[in-house]
Amino acid sequence: MNTDILIIGSGPGGYETAAYAARLGREVTVVEERLAGGTCLNCGCIPTKSLVHDARLAVAATDKAARFAAAMARKNGVVETLRQGVEGLLQQPGIRLVRGHARFVADRTVCVGPEHIEARHVIIATGSEARMPPVPGLGAGERSPRVVTSEQLLSRQELPASLCIIGAGVIGLEMASVFAAFGCEVTVVEYLKECLPTMDGELARRLRKALDKQGIRFCMGAAVQRVEGDNVVWLDAKKQTEVRLRADAILVATGRRPRTEGLGLECTAIGVTPVGITTDDNLQTTVPGIYAVGDVNGRQMLAHAATFQGMRAVNHIMGRQDAIRLDVMPAAVFTQPEAAAVGLTEEACKEAGLDYACHKAIYRANGRAQATEQTDGLAKIICDADDRIIGCHVLGADAAALVQEVAALMSLGITRQRLADIVHIHPTLNEILLDAARH
Ligand SMILES: Cc1cc2nc3c(=O)[nH]c(=O)nc-3n(C[C@H](O)[C@H](O)[C@H](O)COP(=O)(O)OP(=O)(O)OC[C@H]3O[C@@H](n4cnc5c(N)ncnc54)[C@H](O)[C@@H]3O)c2cc1C
Repeated sequence: MNTDILIIGSGPGGYETAAYAARLGREVTVVEERLAGGTCLNCGCIPTKSLVHDARLAVAATDKAARFAAAMARKNGVVETLRQGVEGLLQQPGIRLVRGHARFVADRTVCVGPEHIEARHVIIATGSEARMPPVPGLGAGERSPRVVTSEQLLSRQELPASLCIIGAGVIGLEMASVFAAFGCEVTVVEYLKECLPTMDGELARRLRKALDKQGIRFCMGAAVQRVEGDNVVWLDAKKQTEVRLRADAILVATGRRPRTEGLGLECTAIGVTPVGITTDDNLQTTVPGIYAVGDVNGRQMLAHAATFQGMRAVNHIMGRQDAIRLDVMPAAVFTQPEAAAVGLTEEACKEAGLDYACHKAIYRANGRAQATEQTDGLAKIICDADDRIIGCHVLGADAAALVQEVAALMSLGITRQRLADIVHIHPTLNEILLDAARH
């Protein structure tokens, strides 16, 4: 068969892109080998955020194990409902869904089982998978059943009594926050000195301390040596001694790698590195007419990045200019407390030798924060020498919503003074941004 645009994968980089292209009158074929909706819907953003919600309600509960089971059941329901929505969307006029594994046999020819699909344009949106570090005991075949990826942890029905998380990145910390709230004894083991290495250093430290106060144990600067059955063994950097911890479940959250295996890229001229498929600013690969969006290109492993990159790719196919700012990419960590960021950190400004100013405000000084007992938190706005906002970092209630406001302003190239002049509803947490902009 022939198709105009072939999209491989139905995650946010696939289904949103398909819907966008179909709305613009293009004929699209989507190939999916697993469940519609990809990682984000089935074992990523949505199930974790459903659990985050229940975890917040479970903190003070006495029947935590029962609450966990109920939260898992509700999470499954949420995912199912939303998946039906995605499946419906993939049936709309202009979109054809083909089930199966897609593999290139030539630049613009992909086979799915016995079917050969010739496409004028291809958008690869095959996502990513958990990466296992080269640590003895974590290799395929030698792995204990206690060792799990985030996907496997999310499909557990019972709450483990203890959980050791290897890796203090976004996934590791969100899982730590959720499982600890349900009463699980959580230990996070991290090689680096601080969690969330790309985050503002001050906020990362504060977040770790807040989680530590909730009973989550952090072992920083710890190089995991091996995993032996249900034991994680690491080297304590300061004491230079081996530490051993037994856990009912061991989550490996040390990053994700692009899913390119079995895709037949060797039959094409598409460039690929260990980071992901090589793309230009229009998400076009080294082969004209073939694009790679979302996690598979390794740019920013975020659902909204995948969606907007997909829109950019379609716009490029159609010869349309767009105003999408892929360089303004907000991101959040849905721990308790929440953290979010957009743009440059102070550390990045210093490293680049930029002349910058940092404007801060604390939650405690905000009326809504006091009224709702959410007074722990900090917001930072970073501006360049012309007062233009180049970064915003927030730790505290509704951090993602606050950062989203600043991301909108950054997309428009607005200065701190313009932000300070925008009327904000009172009393809201967003007034913390006004406070920061005025100082
Ligand atoms: C635990 C967890 C929590 C997360 N939370 C968030 C969050 O809160 N916010 C956020 O922005 N991001 C979050 N992410 C990241 C987010 O899930 C990804 O960035 C997003 O799913 C990437 O979308 P994608 O379309 O590139 O790939 P995916 O969503 O991974 O979809 C790829 C699809 O392609 C299919 N596929 C792969 N190869 C083939 C093939 N050869 N043939 C046919 N089909 C194929 C796969 O089956 C899959 O369905 C989270 C990730 C995890 C793991």
